[in-house]
Amino acid sequence: MLGEWGDFAYLKNVPWKAIDEIIKVEKFNKPLSDVISLDRRLPDYRIKECSSLTYPEDLPQASVIIVFCNEAPSVILRTAHSVVNRSPPRYLAEVILVDDFSDRDLHVIKPHLQQIYPDGIVKLLRADKRLGLIRARNFGAKNAVGDVVVFLDAHCEVTIQWLVEPLLSRIQESRTTVVCPLIDMLCSHTFHYSMNGGGAIGGFKWDMAFDWMSVPKREWQRMTSPTDYLRSPAMAGGLFAMDRKFFFELGGYDEGMNIWGGENVEISLRIWRCGGTLEFIPCSRVGHMYRHQFPYKTDRAYLSLNLKRVAEVWLDDYKRIFYLNRPDLKEKDAGDLTSRLKLKEDLKCKSFKWFLDNVFPELFVFDENVLAYGSVSK
Ligand code: UDP
Ligand code: MN
Repeated sequence: MLGEWGDFAYLKNVPWKAIDEIIKVEKFNKPLSDVISLDRRLPDYRIKECSSLTYPEDLPQASVIIVFCNEAPSVILRTAHSVVNRSPPRYLAEVILVDDFSDRDLHVIKPHLQQIYPDGIVKLLRADKRLGLIRARNFGAKNAVGDVVVFLDAHCEVTIQWLVEPLLSRIQESRTTVVCPLIDMLCSHTFHYSMNGGGAIGGFKWDMAFDWMSVPKREWQRMTSPTDYLRSPAMAGGLFAMDRKFFFELGGYDEGMNIWGGENVEISLRIWRCGGTLEFIPCSRVGHMYRHQFPYKTDRAYLSLNLKRVAEVWLDDYKRIFYLNRPDLKEKDAGDLTSRLKLKEDLKCKSFKWFLDNVFPELFVFDENVLAYGSVSK
């Protein structure tokens, strides 16, 4: 069967030129997705030690929240199917699909869910205006009932034992630990599921954009086995699990952020500095489809203002370096920040300097311990 075991797939009767035209509009190979099984099997790319780990029996229940705007129905549904198929029912409270005011025709989703999941395990909520992914995730989490919220993008496929055992057991051990699966790759042209080699954790640059980095020596030295968690200064954003009450104790996502971007670094800084820790879990693997362009309408200006909000709230006086990178944003209005600054006060969050010293020493501070700094122009 097409795409089975995560194999490369292609449509024999459709010329690549025609597919290319479709990809220009959809940003991925939609006709191919439409004929690949929603329940296709996937390879197990976990390191071999993972399959022999044992987990406690009595774990918290998860609500899996999947937000989407103008994604293709077959991709959204394959994400939901993979979650239901690969999560033990006793640990899955619900899957919540949040339709962020899509304006394309998604009418097939509701009847499909009613037919395949008459018990209502997969719920569909629709926002009554465009929220953007950040507020849409808050909206999903407010409607969730599980002990843990798990966020996924709407173009993912989860793999064997992805969630419940490795992620939930870690949260049960420590409710202030936020955990991320390793992110594998789903090819947007062939739906090939390919393994991401690992060996990377998350950080960011001074423009507040997320960035991968190789696992530092201090982490390798701390780990006691290859299945051990990896502490990461930042998360990529789309895929993570967190105690639901802790998510709201930490203030949820910043409602002042629009559409896309910045929220991943913001929540990472908040987790580390306000009482939590952030880890990557090697025994949990989820495939995510990377695309070169957004399939929905957005504006780069929103991203810039989101990044400015991160800098203004979380960088203390280090925001000077952010503005060295983004002088264009100095005078821009990023909206009201009072409630986020108050949250930082109320939670008694640690300083950015503490974060640099203890969590992210790799971030180079341009104007400290250097002979000179500045920019060069021709
Ligand atoms: N999304 C949304 N509303 C928006 C923008 C994005 O619900 O206004 C959804 C999108 O459909 C996807 C998730 O948020 O499921 C993350 O977006 P995307 O995958 O484009 O981000 P990337 O993976 O490229 O960082
Ligand atoms: Mn995505």
